[in-house]
Amino acid sequence: MKKLYTTQNKVSLYVLQSRLKEQGIECFIKNEQPPLAGEIPPDIAWPELWVMDDERFAEAESIFENEKMELETPKANWMCIACGEMLEGQFDVCWKCGGSR
Ligand SMILES: [Zn+2]
Repeated sequence: MKKLYTTQNKVSLYVLQSRLKEQGIECFIKNEQPPLAGEIPPDIAWPELWVMDDERFAEAESIFENEKMELETPKANWMCIACGEMLEGQFDVCWKCGGSR
């Protein structure tokens, strides 16, 4: 059993976990409910993704490498062509006029 990835961003872990499961690699998330701030240093309390099967760890790692860029790079802001509103990367639709990017 080996630790593949630690991040504060739980969503990234869930995305990665589902990618691994698609490939039939057993994995689980540890520290899913981090203790309250102040109890444990933050780098220890972050959620972790563990791979069950050591023999498939290298495979899991290469999947992780492929996903990493997307997981760690915040989506760029964009401007709505219809109304000129600046929107944050996580939105695919303009909140002001409903236009899509
Ligand atoms: Zn708009």
